[in-house]
Amino acid sequence: TKAKKFKVKYLKDQIGERVKAFGWVHRIRKQSNKLMFVIVRDGTGFVQTVLAGDLALTYDAQVLHVETCVKIYGKIVEDERAVGGIELQADYWKVVGQTDTRYESIVSKESGVDNLLKNRHLVLRGENTSRIIKLRSTVLKCLRDHYFSRDYIEVNPPTLVQTQCEGGSTLFKLDYFGETAYLTQSSQLYLETLNSSYGDVFCIASSYRAEKSKTRRHLTEFLQVEAECPFIKFEDLLTRIEDLVCDTVKRILESPMKEEALKMNPDLKVPERPFLRMNYTDAIEYCNKNKIYKDDKKNIFEFGDDITEKPEREMTDKIGKPIFLIKFPAVMKSFYMLRSKENELLTDSVDLLMPGVGEIVGGSMRENDLNKLLKRYEENGLKDKDYYWYTDQRRFGSAPHGGYGLGLGRFLCWAFNVRHIRDVVLYPRTLGRCFP
Ligand code: ATP
Ligand code: MG
Ligand code: MG
Ligand code: MG
Repeated sequence: TKAKKFKVKYLKDQIGERVKAFGWVHRIRKQSNKLMFVIVRDGTGFVQTVLAGDLALTYDAQVLHVETCVKIYGKIVEDERAVGGIELQADYWKVVGQTDTRYESIVSKESGVDNLLKNRHLVLRGENTSRIIKLRSTVLKCLRDHYFSRDYIEVNPPTLVQTQCEGGSTLFKLDYFGETAYLTQSSQLYLETLNSSYGDVFCIASSYRAEKSKTRRHLTEFLQVEAECPFIKFEDLLTRIEDLVCDTVKRILESPMKEEALKMNPDLKVPERPFLRMNYTDAIEYCNKNKIYKDDKKNIFEFGDDITEKPEREMTDKIGKPIFLIKFPAVMKSFYMLRSKENELLTDSVDLLMPGVGEIVGGSMRENDLNKLLKRYEENGLKDKDYYWYTDQRRFGSAPHGGYGLGLGRFLCWAFNVRHIRDVVLYPRTLGRCFP
């Protein structure tokens, strides 16, 4: 089609033809007064453009700067030395939009992290950053394809809510026409209401948490990929999470973005299955034995202690492969988690830990007994009145079920070797930053 024809990505199909291209000047190399190579990008790709003779002598050419928006007419010729193996030999070109000449100094690494975050809108134009953002798009497609190939239905629960599911300390509270409402911490509770009408369901939605500590894997707004599945057992839940991670990596490596993915992480491959299973009690014992401490004061772990980001990552890096950390104590987990049959103090819960990041998935079987659920509200200081719609799933044909949430940003950090989660989102939201 005509629109497709102008995209840089498709210029290679037009060798020998005269074309028109639009884009932004990405790089400039002046060979001589009368010969310039200008790399132009338009989001679909990069093309080397040659400005020769008089075209290189104009005032606009002499002061040409990166990020200028240009329109170019010319012939496409094959050239092995150029990006993508083609060259656009201009016979006419024009500045569409001039640029401020400070671009390069603004986005330079030397300008510091804060400045780069403040100018994220400009940093996003860079080659590395846009590679990650495009990979993010590919991963979202792969995740969706995974679910659709396994008969899941995609749904969109609300993110303005009046219930909490991960504890009050990280809730963002807001005024909803005089009533208290929150930004959702997870879509889980809503997903659970859908199993009886749609079977396996998933959603990809923003979750919000007022994270008060700074780590390299916490944002205050993040995309969560969540699924709820009826009629599964705990072992099935683990298998489904394994299947999600392995199949998604397989799809990335079969996608058109394979090369870009391998540029980020040459070692990216489908992890070996089954993943290592490790009980919470064994994990804290492992930490205590290997001098991985609970906190900076070098306290050792006791049953019921949360394994926070740092020790969790140290443990995972030491073991060096995916770990299913399972059977967390009930005292440290949310009200909805199913207690283990063999031990009421434990839950049928799981965290998937990946080297370099730590937890990327959290999941559990859900309490499906009405009376036990009512008791849990009480124990957790929640008003069952607020949760009547959630409770009704246990009144109207309760079924055993489980589910999980995968943090998209964390998956990307793991898969593409990115150290900090702020680098895999467009505009990161963190403690003290809600702009741009
Ligand atoms: P953590 O222990 O790292 O704080 P969590 O146990 O509180 O995570 P869950 O409630 O289990 O997180 O949420 C499911 C998934 O959502 C997590 O495994 C993680 O991948 C992702 N996630 C949770 N909180 C954040 C956050 N603040 N920023 C980015 N991703 C997050
Ligand atoms: Mg947390
Ligand atoms: Mg956790
Ligand atoms: Mg968790």
